[in-house]
Amino acid sequence: MKDLLFYLIFGLASITYFVGLSEFAKRGSKDRIDKLYFASTMFSAGWGLFIGLVFIQTDKNLAALFRAIGTIHIFGLLICFTNMIIYWSDIQGKMKQWCTGFVWLCVPLYPFVIQSRNVTFEMTAYGMSYRINSGFLSIAYVAFYVVLTVNLLSLSIYMLRRRIRRREKDIAYLLMLCVLIVGFGCALDTLLQFFGLSAFPISTLGQYAAQIVLCKTYLFYNGSRVTLENMSKFVYYSVDEPVFLFDETERLCTVNNGAAIFLGMSTEECCKLRLSDIFILERDAFRFRGSKNRVEARCWQRNSICSISIDKIYDDYKDIIGYIVIVHDVTERVRMLERLEREKQRADKANEAKSAFLANMSHEIRTPINAVMGMNEMILRETEEQSTIEYAKNIQNASKTLLVLINDILDFSKIESGMMEVVEETYSLKSLLNALHTECRMRAAEKGLALTFAVPEDTPSELLGDEVRVRQILLNILTNAIKYTIKGSVTMTVAYERVGADELKLTFAVTDTGIGIKQENIGRLFGAFDRIDEEQVHAIEGTGLGLSIVNKLINLMNGSVTVESVYGQGSTFTVCLQQKIVGEGTVGSLQEQSGKQEIDHRGGGLFAAPDAKILAVDDNKVNLTVIRGLLRKTRVQITCVTSGRECLDYAGKERYDVILLDHMMPGMDGIETLQKLKKMPDNKSKDAAVIVLTANAMAGVKEMYLEKGFDDYLSKPIEGVMLEQLLIKYLPAECIIQNIQ
Ligand code: ADP
Repeated sequence: MKDLLFYLIFGLASITYFVGLSEFAKRGSKDRIDKLYFASTMFSAGWGLFIGLVFIQTDKNLAALFRAIGTIHIFGLLICFTNMIIYWSDIQGKMKQWCTGFVWLCVPLYPFVIQSRNVTFEMTAYGMSYRINSGFLSIAYVAFYVVLTVNLLSLSIYMLRRRIRRREKDIAYLLMLCVLIVGFGCALDTLLQFFGLSAFPISTLGQYAAQIVLCKTYLFYNGSRVTLENMSKFVYYSVDEPVFLFDETERLCTVNNGAAIFLGMSTEECCKLRLSDIFILERDAFRFRGSKNRVEARCWQRNSICSISIDKIYDDYKDIIGYIVIVHDVTERVRMLERLEREKQRADKANEAKSAFLANMSHEIRTPINAVMGMNEMILRETEEQSTIEYAKNIQNASKTLLVLINDILDFSKIESGMMEVVEETYSLKSLLNALHTECRMRAAEKGLALTFAVPEDTPSELLGDEVRVRQILLNILTNAIKYTIKGSVTMTVAYERVGADELKLTFAVTDTGIGIKQENIGRLFGAFDRIDEEQVHAIEGTGLGLSIVNKLINLMNGSVTVESVYGQGSTFTVCLQQKIVGEGTVGSLQEQSGKQEIDHRGGGLFAAPDAKILAVDDNKVNLTVIRGLLRKTRVQITCVTSGRECLDYAGKERYDVILLDHMMPGMDGIETLQKLKKMPDNKSKDAAVIVLTANAMAGVKEMYLEKGFDDYLSKPIEGVMLEQLLIKYLPAECIIQNIQ
């Protein structure tokens, strides 16, 4: 009996120590209840251990010592237990203070409880035992236990009544059971002494039973707390994303609800599957470096496309024990991307068709205009009759307007489709300004307007930039200024500022004394097809595209354009552009230059070259007639042919100085003809400059032709003066007789 009791008490003490320590190691002391529970297990085990030691003693002094230590543990456990119940019952105010304070009465009680004169030790059948001597202390001791038990029971009842959740009520029941077990054990122990009997370790054994219930309460409480451990399980089952857990042999172990729904099977059915039964995956999808991988896969069951993330799960030895596979069904997204790709291809095709249509339209419209303008220019050159000259000039103006219109529409659609590119080349600002002045002077003069260019003579002239576009921007603004000014003047003031070593910030301010623009309309100026102040401008030709193109081109060049205007008095358009300086030359005096460059458009014949030979190739005979007519005064020897094949024949037989070659011809087109010309072994005209003549005037085509190997480019309708200038450039200098007029 004695031995059995001994082993029981010590065995239970060891188990309690173990349970307390392992729970503590697992959970740590995150909050108050963890600490209290841990302390309670230590006190409980200590209680059992030391009171147990009392029973195996033969020496009363030693027994008294162990009892004194054991009593500390008893009181410690009571304090912890009381505080745990207070914590769980969430009691507040006076009741809390009373309960917390009362349990601490054990501290003043302690010295009396352990005093040897108050306790009698004696040997019994179950070992050394003791009895508190009757008197005030024993009454106080019993009273302490009774009141404490009543307190704790009240707290449990309070919790049972006040707490509304079922789990809280369950905790209250468990606590009540604990209190009753401890209370019963202690009461029995204490009561025995009243009957002159020594204490049998009932309370010591009972408190182990209470400790088991307390442990269950604590675990139950922890199970319903919001902790990462609890929630990860909850999250695993509740997420909609299918989550699969495979073991290291790629056999499915567990699935969440999302995965079961995804596969359309019960959880049990799912768990019979292997990885290859679910996904079509690359062979080595699970053999990757690192701990995470993302792969594309197809799901057998659903025929869906999935993006799969695979996480390796390791054991403590860093060996793989399984894989977590999270599946994202991307079928819809992939299908949408495919749809978008198809739409994009369709849009690209439509865009290509639009560009082709525009290029074609440009070609188709320009070809007849070429005939009209060319023939008209010949009328202007050859007639002496005043009224005929007048009619021909009207035709000339109308055709020029038509050309500007076509060019604007082509440029606009090219910019809109993002195909307009800035092509930077070196150019002379001086020549550009001269050309602009020449072009605008006639228009201004026709309206009786004074046109002035104020340009500082030291402005750097050798620049790198897109000359064609700079010219287009300025010409547009200058022509508008002339168009919308009835009397007065148009002035372009140029200012410059050096930015760094080789950058130049140019400011072109075009001021007119014209009709002006209302403040509220300034914001609309750069919108496409928007002509403002219709009443005022309806008599003036225009489409409302010019400024929109200007604005877009300036944006392409990272420049800026601003407008200041006083309605009825005039406007100033200011353009700022940055260009690179590539040489030392400056603009100098412009007016002199303009004077020199002036050309008599009516007459033509900048030069004569009776010994020069030109081969003109165009399938349209009217165009050939125009070329002949335009070059009549130059007395150049012109051979006209109407196909690429004939071009090759003639070039093989005769040495020509320049070949004017049309692009769009039936059969062999201009580009193919050029390539054959270059490869022809017996080509007598292999040194001839080949200039493409084309009605394709879309922005950027010039570069395309130069890339194909043409020496130069001339767009239709051919202007006599441009043609002559090109020929001066390419005909051998010894053939040319300058200024024959
Ligand atoms: P368009 O001149 O072909 O109508 P623009 O885009 O060049 O088209 O100009 C848009 C509008 O801006 C014109 O219709 C005109 O009302 C106004 N505008 C442009 N320049 C001036 C100017 N210098 N003075 C007054 N109004 C102007």
